[in-house]
Amino acid sequence: MGETLARKNIDETCIVCEQPKTLGIHLFASFICSDCEKDIIQTDTNDPKYKYYINQLKSVIKPEIYS
Ligand SMILES: [Zn+2]
Repeated sequence: MGETLARKNIDETCIVCEQPKTLGIHLFASFICSDCEKDIIQTDTNDPKYKYYINQLKSVIKPEIYS
């Protein structure tokens, strides 16, 4: 049901590489391209790159909370 509707060829800006991409996943209200998704999965947690990814993701997962 509705599977055809899920396939749209609209470029969205990836929050990690900040490039407009067609393929990727949605995380909350943001978009991560399949390249970055793969990269994140393959990057070792000790790699400085991993910290950068997490940083980018944090801004999505944890929206600013005003307490
Ligand atoms: Zn990307």
